[in-house]
Amino acid sequence: MSVAGKITRLSGVAPAPEISIVIPVYNESANLRALWSRLEPVISALGRASEAVFVDDGSADNSLEILRGLAANDPRVRVVELARNFGQHSAILAGFRNCKGEIVVTLDADLQNPPEEIPKLIAAIDAGNDVVGGWREERQDRTYRRLASRLHNRITSAIVGVPMHDYGCMLRAYRRHIIDTVVECDEKAAFVPALANTFAKRVAEIRVEHAERAAGESKYNLFSLAHLSLNLITGFSMLPMRTLSLTGIGIFLLDAIFAIVLMAHRFIYGPQQEGALWTLFAVLFFFVGLIFLALGLIGEYVGRIYIEVRRRPNYIVRAIHRGDYEEPSAPRTLG
Ligand code: UDP
Ligand code: MG
Repeated sequence: MSVAGKITRLSGVAPAPEISIVIPVYNESANLRALWSRLEPVISALGRASEAVFVDDGSADNSLEILRGLAANDPRVRVVELARNFGQHSAILAGFRNCKGEIVVTLDADLQNPPEEIPKLIAAIDAGNDVVGGWREERQDRTYRRLASRLHNRITSAIVGVPMHDYGCMLRAYRRHIIDTVVECDEKAAFVPALANTFAKRVAEIRVEHAERAAGESKYNLFSLAHLSLNLITGFSMLPMRTLSLTGIGIFLLDAIFAIVLMAHRFIYGPQQEGALWTLFAVLFFFVGLIFLALGLIGEYVGRIYIEVRRRPNYIVRAIHRGDYEEPSAPRTLG
C-alpha cells in the first residue's frame, strides 16, 4: 500500500470519491430518511468510492437537521447548506461546485427518481458517454405537467441542438469535465441539463422508472414552470429578438404589396374618395415596419453584449494528444 493510502486508512478519511450523487433539497424532511435508506445500499453496492452531496436549499423545515444527522453517521454524506432558497438549478450548481467525483449523478430528493436506477446511468457513462439523461417514459405527474413538458422538450431540443425526450428529468449523470465547464460558466439562470448538453460530445438517454412524489408537494407551479421555460429560451437563443426584425421585414413586404395594389387601383379606376385614407394606411404600415426592424436591430446588439457577458466558452480542450500518450490540457480559466 502506498504511503498516501496508509495515511488515509489511519486517519479514517474516506478515499477521494469516484462517484458523487448530488441531491437538491428544499423542505423534504418527510422524504430524506427514506431516500437515504434506499440510496445507501445502492452506493455501497457500486463497489467504488462514492459520496452523497445533499444541498439544503434554504429549507424552512428540519431537513437540514436530518441531513446533518446523516452526515454525522456516515462519512460518505456531505451537506452543503445554502443561505436561503435559491431554486433547484442553483442548488444543483452549488452541489457541482462542492463535489469531487469523476462521475456526478443528480437525483431529486422526493423519491420520484428511484435511486436503484443509478447503476444504469453510471454504466452508460462508463460506456463512453459524457452525459446520460434519464427518460421518464411513464411520468407520474399531473396531466398539465406532462403536456407542458412535452412542449418544453421539443423547444429545448431545438434550441440546444441536442434532441432528447426528457430534459426535465433530473436523474442524470455527467462526466467530470462537463461539470467543471458548467461550474465555470457560473450562470445566473442556468437550466443545468440544457447547459451541460451544449458541452457534451456523446449524449445518451436511458429509460428510468418514475414514481409519484413520496411525500410533500411539488415546489413548482404553472408560473414557476413558465419562468423556467422563459429562462431557457432567452438563455439559449436570440430567437425572441430575431423575431422582431423578421416581423419588421414581413410588415415591409406586406406594405409593399399593399402600395402596389393601391397604385394599380388608382390607375385602373382613377382617384377615389377614400383613396387618401388607404394611402395613409400604407404610410402607417411603413413606419410600423420600420419600428419593428429598429427594435430588432437594437436587440441584435443587446444580444451580442449578452453573449459576451455570459462568458460561455467557445470551445473546451479536453486533452492534447502527442504520439502515444495523452497529456491532460492545462486548466482553462474563463476571463
Ligand atoms: N428543490 C430545491 N429548491 C427549490 C425547489 C425544489 O432544491 O427551490 C428540490 C426539491 O427538494 C426536489 C427537487 O428539487 O428534490 C425537485 O423538486 P420538485 O419535486 O418539487 O419538482 P417536480 O418533481 O415537481 O418537478
Ligand atoms: Mg418531484
